[in-house]
Amino acid sequence: MDEKIVHEDDLGNLRRSHYSFQISRSNIDESVVIVGWISSKRDHGNVLFVQLRDQFGEMQVVVKKKELSSDLFNTIRNLKEHSSLGITGVVVEQKNSLDQVEIIPKEIKILSISNKPAPFLTQAVSSVGIDTRLDLRAIDLRRNHLQYIFKIRNTVINSIREYFNENYFVEVNTPKMIATATEGGAALFPIFYYDREAFLAQSPQLYKEQLTMAFESVFEIAPIFRAEPSRTNRHLSEAISVDAEKAYVDYRDMMDHLEKLIHHIINKINTKNANELENLGISLPQINNSFTRITYSDLVRKLQANHKYIRWGDDISPKILKDLFGDEFFFIIEWPASTKPFYVKSITEDDYSAGKDIDEKNRLSESFDLMFGGLELSSGSTRINNKSMLMENMKKKGLNDKAFDYHLRVFDYAVPPHAGFGLGLERLIMAILRLDNIRDATFYPRDIDRLTP
Ligand code: ATP
Ligand code: MG
Repeated sequence: MDEKIVHEDDLGNLRRSHYSFQISRSNIDESVVIVGWISSKRDHGNVLFVQLRDQFGEMQVVVKKKELSSDLFNTIRNLKEHSSLGITGVVVEQKNSLDQVEIIPKEIKILSISNKPAPFLTQAVSSVGIDTRLDLRAIDLRRNHLQYIFKIRNTVINSIREYFNENYFVEVNTPKMIATATEGGAALFPIFYYDREAFLAQSPQLYKEQLTMAFESVFEIAPIFRAEPSRTNRHLSEAISVDAEKAYVDYRDMMDHLEKLIHHIINKINTKNANELENLGISLPQINNSFTRITYSDLVRKLQANHKYIRWGDDISPKILKDLFGDEFFFIIEWPASTKPFYVKSITEDDYSAGKDIDEKNRLSESFDLMFGGLELSSGSTRINNKSMLMENMKKKGLNDKAFDYHLRVFDYAVPPHAGFGLGLERLIMAILRLDNIRDATFYPRDIDRLTP
């Protein structure tokens, strides 16, 4: 199409009167104004069938040659998919279909013209590689498959807020530019902060713990930044973390909360997104009962029967866990303290049923990981709220307590006992929608190879 001849119209006073879902047989003979982009077009010579797509779905527009100027008709015939139109027209019954309607345009405005053919189909599951799709992510996100995923993501976010609000958690925001590492050493992005070095926060951990002093129960939904050097299907450099922290409870109470939160989310998706689930061809995991809770030590013992090389203290590979549990939510609890960050509380001597002295390397912690098959969704624990214990733990982990002065000083004013968890939003979506790649649960994924778009 010659761009010099066809110009784009201003939006001007044109405003939508109906979304696609608001037009039905009850609107027959009504005049409507619809706007959207062309998702597909069929050319029958003197008649064009244009599928116009808006936020909610598609409408069929029937453009007849004899009813438009031949210039305009030819222009629309030549428009490529993704071009945007504003149409004033009349709703009529759709021939060959009793319960549907279509739009006969009286006036058409061309609001935006796509100059290039779409590099991938708008409808079907894409056949091109993920990198090609991510390079043009905004267009990729128009595909049905991703539309369904992100509509469900929207339900997930809303239901998380709903759950925490109903349970008296206060939504907070903590700094994302920070002076020191949360968990020590690895995986931080350094940034320039005026004349100093600073870092992007890898977690809101210390801030959310402090905020339990002021608000008791807090939650945050925000990005975390991790310099993950490996290329995996489940790690992003920037991910959204759902963090919760609560005073006067321990790790078991927070496991109860997490379990109820997951139930709430799944129930909400089932009621709000039945259509999307059907179109994706999946059903959500069945979770009528409470999640299995297995101690780390029992799990290792169980696995050693078939995997002799596994040692107590090792991380356990996703594949082995998936083989054992399949697609199921479960908790691995009471991890070796040596595998957990400095702020995680150890199980105290009194709590060990044997009552015997536990040497350092065998110490357990009041901690849990929520898993779905082999995928870690969340880590949580009871936190240390005693200052000297916290400092001692920092030393054990090789951290410089001076760097944490800003944090340690609040412990002089009685930090209450507290516990919490961090839940990866994209991991959760990946798990329940059975996505192969975490990138498809992210609008604009960041990883070691990708910093644009
Ligand atoms: P993993 O061992 O899977 O790398 P982790 O134990 O380092 O995760 P935590 O520090 O426990 O992660 O963070 C809490 C949750 O945040 C994780 O259970 C996961 O759901 C999510 N998460 C952590 N790192 C990433 C990441 N790089 N990309 C996406 N989600 C992440
Ligand atoms: Mg973890």
